[in-house]
Amino acid sequence: MNFQWYPGHMTKAKRQMQEDIKLIESGYRACGCKNPLSSRNPDIDELGKNKYRLILMNKADLADKERTREWSAFFKEKGFFVVSLDARSKSGMKSITDIVMEACKEKIERRPESVGIKNRPVRAMVVGIPNVGKSTFINSYAGKACAKTGNKPGVTKGKQWIRLNKSVELLDTPGILWPKFEDQTVGLRLALIGSIKDEILNVDELAVELVKFLKAEYPGLLAQRYEVSEENDIIELISAVAVNRKCLSKGGEPDYSKAAALIIDDFRSGKLGHITLERPEI
Ligand code: GDP
Repeated sequence: MNFQWYPGHMTKAKRQMQEDIKLIESGYRACGCKNPLSSRNPDIDELGKNKYRLILMNKADLADKERTREWSAFFKEKGFFVVSLDARSKSGMKSITDIVMEACKEKIERRPESVGIKNRPVRAMVVGIPNVGKSTFINSYAGKACAKTGNKPGVTKGKQWIRLNKSVELLDTPGILWPKFEDQTVGLRLALIGSIKDEILNVDELAVELVKFLKAEYPGLLAQRYEVSEENDIIELISAVAVNRKCLSKGGEPDYSKAAALIIDDFRSGKLGHITLERPEI
């Protein structure tokens, strides 16, 4: 399967971000805990260099806790402030303000005394690829529904400043996804977590890749959830899921594609367990 996705509005989003980033002192780079590496965007890293210091590792509730700890240590080692969180939960948002203040401490101290900006709120923005939970985070952080959220990639549109509290002012920006993945494994992982529109994906093939990964990295999970044998080859295994889960076509036959979609949904929603797709290279 060849993954490529670069909707027209993304070019515009990148230009917009180039402008927006000039306005801020600090950035929150959001990524998914399930794939911290492939959910980073080289364009964003380039645009935000010297700006973002804080990595929000979101959807921690869906990820493998041990791997999240490894990733957190890895990013800290590289000089970032790191928070892992479930953006849907409002608890822990106060500690994020403390961390962003800490991350900006030097910048605040270097502000000129004379121009009356010493005590101005820190201006920040959330950046990241679609579907990592940027809007959800902003809603929770701001304590009210001030940013649109949705479960489809690319839903965050337009920009807005949000006065969060006396310390932080936040600019909401659209996510950006790079046009071509040199490494198709990256494309595959993004597709698996739902950051590429499902309409352009071959769900059957995606499920094959997911099952291959799970059999190797999380043996026993598929057997446990679907009561299938992991000794089977992948196609047989997915067919067995169709039978056991009554994924049937109109004629009452086991429907392979429905089973494939079910496995992907269960993975995305966390029903298959706490799974992380990649490890830091230590
Ligand atoms: P954005 O495109 O980055 O702004 O992503 P959204 O904020 O629209 O979130 C995408 C989907 O992920 C929505 O269905 C959210 O409810 C869900 N979501 C966001 N944060 C979390 C989280 O921490 N945990 C889980 N399980 N789901 C989340």
